[in-house]
Amino acid sequence: MNPRPSKRNPNRPKGILMNGVLPFDIAVVGAGAAGLMTAIAASSVSSAVTGRKKPSVLLLDSRKKIGAKILMSGGTRCNVTNTRVLPSDYEGGPKHFVKHVLEAFTPEETRAFFEAIGVPLILEPTGKYFPATHSGKTVLEALIKEAERLSVKLETGVLVRNIKKEGPHFILKGENFEAHAERVVLTTGGLSYPETGSDGTGFLIAKSFGHSLVKRTPALTPLTTPDADWQVLSGVSLEVKLSFFENGKKKAERGGAMLFTHFGFSGPAALDISRFVAGCGAPDRYEIRASFFPGETEEGLKKRFEDVRREHPGKHVKSFFTETLGLPERFAEAFLKKINADSRTPLEQCGARGAGRLIHLFLNYPLEVTGVVGYKKAEVTAGGVDLKEANFSTMESKLVPGLYFAGEILDVDGRIGGFNFQWSWSSGTVAGRSVAAAAVGLD
Ligand SMILES: Cc1cc2nc3c(=O)[nH]c(=O)nc-3n(C[C@H](O)[C@H](O)[C@H](O)COP(=O)(O)OP(=O)(O)OC[C@H]3O[C@@H](n4cnc5c(N)ncnc54)[C@H](O)[C@@H]3O)c2cc1C
Repeated sequence: MNPRPSKRNPNRPKGILMNGVLPFDIAVVGAGAAGLMTAIAASSVSSAVTGRKKPSVLLLDSRKKIGAKILMSGGTRCNVTNTRVLPSDYEGGPKHFVKHVLEAFTPEETRAFFEAIGVPLILEPTGKYFPATHSGKTVLEALIKEAERLSVKLETGVLVRNIKKEGPHFILKGENFEAHAERVVLTTGGLSYPETGSDGTGFLIAKSFGHSLVKRTPALTPLTTPDADWQVLSGVSLEVKLSFFENGKKKAERGGAMLFTHFGFSGPAALDISRFVAGCGAPDRYEIRASFFPGETEEGLKKRFEDVRREHPGKHVKSFFTETLGLPERFAEAFLKKINADSRTPLEQCGARGAGRLIHLFLNYPLEVTGVVGYKKAEVTAGGVDLKEANFSTMESKLVPGLYFAGEILDVDGRIGGFNFQWSWSSGTVAGRSVAAAAVGLD
């Protein structure tokens, strides 16, 4: 005998999800940052203003507990946005598309929105905004509460396996349910941290509708090195500038803190450059050069070296790095070992050529990087649904009327600093507003 459907059985059959006897006006697939924002924006359409019936919104997620990434983000503090968000903070599809979407819902509007739902944000000196509570849980709870207040119907534990358009309706099917809707927004995210629900089904669904997918690779993921001299520095962090060269040509430069780990390099600078490493593939096609003292030129540093040598000729070469430049001792030891320099050599014994070589390598060190850690530790996915096949004013598919996209499923990836969530809030708001306008006949 089949067990009777019960609220306590999480695997209970869901059956057919309908809005009474009618299909939902809008089904949003994926209840992460972009999906929650889309559903809230769509349900915020006021019938008093439009004079039309408010659209019914169904929000589906494969996970029983939603919002895992919001909870884990920013070291569980959730870096919601940044003071300044520009298209140049993103890689992926065309910049004018990204610009249009960011301007339609700006970081200022994001802050006002969160304030209005009871989550004031505080600014840190780095330009990053966090909830005043320093907890991603506050952000997630407020979004869910707002969606509930606006009568969004949230169904969790339902994995949408495929979607078909039959006549004017979309039919969404999973193992234990079927849902009917007039319009669909895909907000299923990418492939990173798959245990959070990002299993890539959304990409397959987009493809089944004829959408092209730009090559997907992990991004904002640590770099790996077999170099034991760097691995032993695990825990040391310093400001660097990393330059990425592909087939000898410089393609990108990223600055910020870099953290040495037991397997390689992490921290914002390494994470930000990782999308290029992952996209390039074989290590013999790329090179990463590190400047361990960004902001300083070879000329400037040579002059400082000369000044110290003149004043303190008996000082050891290591002290130039630790005392003059203020770098960690462990790092100075490791760097000098790597370039075959004796850390106890007195400065007076360093000739001009030796000093020049030392400084050149210090500002242009070729790091041995064999690849990236990958999706299991990637904050985002680079690549995704090709922006050329979506309308930047509405986020609607140019191929399938009534199908929309928002968030990480699209070919847009931001750098570290709140830029990825801002993309979710902005694209989710644009998608939500336009799908609702279409649903109530105002588009
Ligand atoms: C460790 C970590 C830290 C981060 N920190 C920050 C930060 O501080 N600031 C920042 O800006 N960004 C940060 N990010 C990136 C940010 O979390 C993402 O850019 C953002 O969550 C993307 O939102 P999304 O809604 O598009 O996708 P997701 O958050 O991945 O949500 C997609 C949802 O869709 C559901 N889903 C997928 N497929 C289906 C399906 N077929 N049927 C039903 N449901 C489905 C999934 O279960 C999931 O809930 C971080 C990411 C990670 C992993």
